[in-house]
Amino acid sequence: MLEKILVANRGEIALRVIRACKEMGIESVAIYSEADVTSLHVRYADEAYMIGPAAAEKSYMDSDKLIEVAKESGADAIHPGYGFLAENVGFAEKCEKNNLVFVGPSSSTLRLTGDKLKCRLTMKRVGVPILPGGEEIVESEDEAVDVAEKVGWPVLVKSAFGGGGRGIRMASNERELRETMRPAQLEAQAAYGKTGVYIEKCIVSPRHIELQLLCDQHGNMIHLGERECSIQRRFQKLLEMSPSPIMDGERRAAVADMAKAAARSVEYTSAGTIEFITDGTGNFYFIEVNSRLQVEHPVTEMVTGVDLVKQQIRIASGEEITIRQDDVEIRGAAIECRINAEDPFNDFVPSIGTVDEYHPPGGPGIRVDTALYRGYTVPVHYDSLVGKLVAWGSDFNEAVSRMRNALDEFVIGGIKTTIPLQKGILEDEHFVQGKISTDFVRNRRVIEKIIQKQAYEMKANEELAVLVAASVWGTPKPTRLLSATQGGQRTLGISRWKAAV
Ligand code: ADP
Repeated sequence: MLEKILVANRGEIALRVIRACKEMGIESVAIYSEADVTSLHVRYADEAYMIGPAAAEKSYMDSDKLIEVAKESGADAIHPGYGFLAENVGFAEKCEKNNLVFVGPSSSTLRLTGDKLKCRLTMKRVGVPILPGGEEIVESEDEAVDVAEKVGWPVLVKSAFGGGGRGIRMASNERELRETMRPAQLEAQAAYGKTGVYIEKCIVSPRHIELQLLCDQHGNMIHLGERECSIQRRFQKLLEMSPSPIMDGERRAAVADMAKAAARSVEYTSAGTIEFITDGTGNFYFIEVNSRLQVEHPVTEMVTGVDLVKQQIRIASGEEITIRQDDVEIRGAAIECRINAEDPFNDFVPSIGTVDEYHPPGGPGIRVDTALYRGYTVPVHYDSLVGKLVAWGSDFNEAVSRMRNALDEFVIGGIKTTIPLQKGILEDEHFVQGKISTDFVRNRRVIEKIIQKQAYEMKANEELAVLVAASVWGTPKPTRLLSATQGGQRTLGISRWKAAV
């Protein structure tokens, strides 16, 4: 068994890994940037090393520095979490060269899964269904149009080295495709350092279903059911659940077989996810391998009772998986809401600042994975995910009720978060009926409905405030209205007052 693990990450995922290490009697080493001096992972780990300035490239993504700290601290392994260097081939190679166990798949697997085009071809070869699309990077608009004409409109322009939904753009016709090529290339360059993009047939309003696998170094492989991640915004996940309302035992087994074939074809080891999209007619198409622990892994943990991080560590230590496929049971249902420090009513601009009030929800089946605390200042430099709220119920309806309560109870003051948006999603009747797709937030006008509701409530509160003020003072005068939820103040004019009296 590994004895000491350097956790090459920050935020909630660093805490998640440190906690697993503690449970397993493994020492943990935290690393942190100048912007994270007051972060919880620094306090919770057994040791902590400052590794550089705030900019991620100079700290959390400085692979040489990480290796140096791992050696200096006597760690025998590195857990990369997700994001940063989690799927970086060069980093995994450096770990291997320096006799440090990389808690994840091998560098050769990462090389293959990180190149989406190569990965698509591999899947095609082993009979895992892929969507029609180009087999090579398209450099020019003309090349892109050629491929699109062959596969049929609409198409997606996708980064060949993508991840996290960034750099994906849709085009419904030639004009849109020509317009979108250059921005897509630039976006890919900014996000992944390479301009390469390819064309893939776009499925309209699909559902995103992914299979969680555990694969050890001895050829054993099990699946832990699926997660549905169809609630997205601009190709990025907002809310995930397990199981998916459209899956039953038979379908799950069939998709799991495809996922296992996909994982075998890239010699996958560790915890990993095979992502599919489905078009509503029962067809599932491979989209990518996520060669890491995923943000949404807790929903699988809640329904299966399997601790994915501990399993990852055991596999990385060379142990065999002791859970048999027949032992895996999907119990009840779990939902995860991503809590991002963003303003959902202002184009999701990142919200930075100090958390001046913090009250996490509780009760049966509730899990909160976060590194927030009162007084913590959310830095500007990193991903906006600041927490994950997970609710488990004996069935989907119970999970929904618990999540609604938990979202109502969750107080994070001082910054804007996606909590109001998540409430809006949970209230939607189609959501409750499981009628979802990746267009759900837009098609159901979730954001617009929340804004309307807020405006209505604000007006009702104003009327009430005027009545109360009028009954207290009687005589008309301008009244200050303090908003409990918006943190603002408004002055009510004398005419409203008079109308009320
Ligand atoms: P990334 O690697 O950037 O995360 P993915 O290939 O995993 O990109 O896709 C992210 C999301 O984009 C998917 O969850 C899905 O919503 C959407 N998507 C991807 N490919 C297609 C497609 N061919 N048709 C429709 N939607 C797609």
